[in-house]
Amino acid sequence: MNILRLALLGVVLNISCLAATADLPAQVNSVYPKVQQLYIDLHQHPELSQHETQTAAKLAEALRGLGYDVTTGVGGTGVVALLRNGPGPTVMLRTELDALPVEEKTGWTFASRVHTTDDSGADVPVMHACGHDIHMAALYGTAALMARNRQSWHGTLMLIGQPDEEKVGGARAMLKDGLFTRFPKPDIAFAVHDTNNFPAGQIAFTPGYALTSSDGVDITIYGKGGHGAMPQATVDPIVIAACTVLTLQTIVSREINPQDAAVITVGSIHGGTKRNIIPDQVKLELTVRSYKPEVRQHLLDAIARIARAESEAGNAPRPPDVKFMESTPAQYNDPKLVDRIAASLRQQMGAENVVLSPPWTPSEDFSEFGKAGVPSAMFWLGAANPAKFEEAQKTGNSLPSNHSPLFAPDYNPTLHTAVLAETTALMDLLK
Ligand code: ZN
Ligand code: ZN
Repeated sequence: MNILRLALLGVVLNISCLAATADLPAQVNSVYPKVQQLYIDLHQHPELSQHETQTAAKLAEALRGLGYDVTTGVGGTGVVALLRNGPGPTVMLRTELDALPVEEKTGWTFASRVHTTDDSGADVPVMHACGHDIHMAALYGTAALMARNRQSWHGTLMLIGQPDEEKVGGARAMLKDGLFTRFPKPDIAFAVHDTNNFPAGQIAFTPGYALTSSDGVDITIYGKGGHGAMPQATVDPIVIAACTVLTLQTIVSREINPQDAAVITVGSIHGGTKRNIIPDQVKLELTVRSYKPEVRQHLLDAIARIARAESEAGNAPRPPDVKFMESTPAQYNDPKLVDRIAASLRQQMGAENVVLSPPWTPSEDFSEFGKAGVPSAMFWLGAANPAKFEEAQKTGNSLPSNHSPLFAPDYNPTLHTAVLAETTALMDLLK
């Protein structure tokens, strides 16, 4: 009798779950106008890392309107929204809030024209060039559908708006401010990131290491300034800096096992004010990427060693300052969790739209949540216009990547897919 009852209950529950997923695309359509409205608003009003006040306020208000229990100001401008729906697991879905100092050149009618003063006091343009506006708008749509379908899942849904991703400081700041102590510590953390590496309509996944660790290194090389026509009376830090940049490039090519991925890029070099003045210092800014912790450590040690040695070789009056900052571990996608989510996505979206991706070399501080002990998975969200994507594949030209002034997601199908995929994954993880 009991077994029969249980079986019947199982059938009933299954039917209600199936009914919810079968009409999910129609439900996504029903929330889409509001999702797009939020996307366009956020796209027009981007804010730099650690300054996402209006952005956070908009997201918080939208989620409160759906009945979520919302806390703001977590780890700076971070937002935490909870929907408690009976006993069960806690699953976290994360979006970032911040934009970049990039001048938008998409030509869109709602392109950002925002300028602001950055932390160094310089006037800079601002653009959602990493597509975090897509993630926020999608999270809102997903939040609406999860609230509407709460009879089909149980547990606690935890949505977070994380500040300061682009400087990889926001996840750590939220954790430090009690994300996993003041609020329930999730059993699973999930996120998507948009990319032109896949066409809109597709979701891609990478089990295991998916994104590199990231370290910022600032090097100040010291010389002895003087007249550009009398170098014999100076120590020229520009020449030392030039040697340093070139020797740094031998670390990856000569010291690292070719089977291991590693990148050292000197993205900024500043020194001097005028052609006939030898300055007294030059500043270099580097970004360093790898997957394995031991490779990461080797790269950082070698950078410091070479910076010191080149300054010594150039007879610098003092050793360089080498500062390590903006660091985040590699993103490790829990293989079992990835398999589980991919299976539910295939069922909902068709196997042809859920594809395997190789690991990529950008970084994400979403990895901090995994490091804090929460099994996590980040999926790629295709954002390229499918026709343009196909043409790019044929011609071998790549489409503008994230952080490009031309990064223009095909937002309508991208947002539809994001909401569908997130809702499908969450319903499965909370069933
Ligand atoms: Zn980015
Ligand atoms: Zn990003």
